[in-house]
Formats: sequence, C-alpha cells, structure tokens
Amino acid sequence: MDDLIVLKNLRKVYKMGDEKIIALNSIDLNIKRNEFVCLLGTSGSGKSTLLNMMAGLEKPTKGEIIINGHHLEKMNETQLTKFRQLNIGFVFQSYNLIPTLSAMENVSLGLTFKGVPKAKRDKMAKEMLENVGLGNRLHHKPSEMSGGQQQRVSIARAFVGKPKIVFADEPTGNLDTKTTFEVMDLITGMARENNQTLIIVTHDNEISSYAHRVVYIRDGNIEKITHNQIITEGEKTK
Ligand code: ADP
Ligand code: MG
Repeated sequence: MDDLIVLKNLRKVYKMGDEKIIALNSIDLNIKRNEFVCLLGTSGSGKSTLLNMMAGLEKPTKGEIIINGHHLEKMNETQLTKFRQLNIGFVFQSYNLIPTLSAMENVSLGLTFKGVPKAKRDKMAKEMLENVGLGNRLHHKPSEMSGGQQQRVSIARAFVGKPKIVFADEPTGNLDTKTTFEVMDLITGMARENNQTLIIVTHDNEISSYAHRVVYIRDGNIEKITHNQIITEGEKTK
C-alpha cells in the first residue's frame, strides 16, 4: 500500500555486437516510503544497472518502474529529467562533481532547475555544506579537495533539494575506512531526519548492516532478501 517504488518484471539486456549481456533478468521488488534498502552483490552482478533504472538514468529493455504512481518506463527524456530533478538525489562512487565549479556552485546548481531564486539557493547550499562539515571549503573546486571532501560535496548536492528518494552507488567505494563510516553516518542520518527513502549499492557487508533490508543481487537476479534488526538512537542509550 505504502510502496513508493514498484519494479515489475524488470529486464535489461545490453547488445555488444553479436553478444547479448543479460544485466538484469527479471526483477520484481517493492520499496516502501522511508525505507533504507541496500543492494548487495559482487562486481558485475547488475547492481548499478538496477539502481540507474530506478533513478531514471537508464531505460529498461522490458518491465515496469513505478515511482509514487508514475511509470518511468513510459517517460521520454525530457519527462525523465524533470522527474529526476524534482524527486531524486544521486550519489556516485566517483563523485561526478563539475570540475570548474566551486563546492557552493556544485551544490546549488540542481536548485536552479527547481526554480529556487539565487539568494535562497546560495543560502541553502551554504547551510548544506556546513551540515556536512565543509563550511570552510565553500569556494574550493573539486580538485582542491580530498576524496572524502568531494564525496561530502556530492552528498550535499544530492540532499540539498530534499528529494523523496536518494540513490547512492558505492558511495564509499573510493574512501578509506574511517571516512567510509563518516560518510555512511552522514547519508543515513540525513535520510532519517528528512524521512527520505534511501537505496544504496554496495559490495561491502558491513555497510549493508546499516540498512532495513538487504537485497542480494546475483547474475541479474534477486538471490534473497534479508531484514536487519536496526538499533534506533533511543534504544542505543538503554
Ligand atoms: P555491478 O554494478 O553489480 O558491478 P553492472 O550493473 O554495472 O554491475 O553490470 C552488470 C553487467 O552488465 C556486467 O556484466 C556489465 O559488464 C554489463 N554492462 C553494464 N553496463 C553495460 C553497458 N553500458 N554496455 C554493455 N554491458 C554493460
Ligand atoms: Mg556498479
């Protein structure tokens, strides 16, 4: 009933010359509002393909992707772009920041498409960068920041517009252990605070232990789904 994302018989086949690569076989999956789901699997299992299709970045070969009642597989590029701008935040493994723009400009850019006026955009971007601990890096370009700092800028960019859903594809894949936990705490904390639905791709068991549900992907199929016992902040202090 309160499913925010519904995937039905989702299939993705890539054609490489004569060869067909079945990246996703036939996926059925429902994700609830405010849920935190991890997609776990080895390299090449189809995790990114699945995430990209849910985020409207790639078209399925077959099947349905229904978000909040909207069929993504029926949308054209313009409609998809608009839908993404209004509803979706995305964190990439390799940050994907615009190299010529400062941290502030990278974060505020997405708000332009939402019609937020300049002064408000600047204020929101500055506050969000302060929230992720980069209040002293507002005017730095990506090349002038560490990997962990760049990922925090990209997290600020994904969250600044308070999208309904945030997707992250191996967001800590290029980070050291200490930074990994800082970045995970940041992402999960903000999603919880804003009541957002969070879907993270990882091949790391430890990261998946943060999630409500873990969806194991193998050879383009869902192998199994497990539920985690999540310790809430209140319970921790008991
Ligand atoms: P994962 O994210 O789990 O590592 P991917 O979803 O990136 O896996 O890829 C799943 C399979 O689809 C792999 O075999 C990969 O080589 C193939 N694949 C992914 N993207 C493309 C593409 N654009 N063209 C052809 N094959 C692709
Ligand atoms: Mg991947």
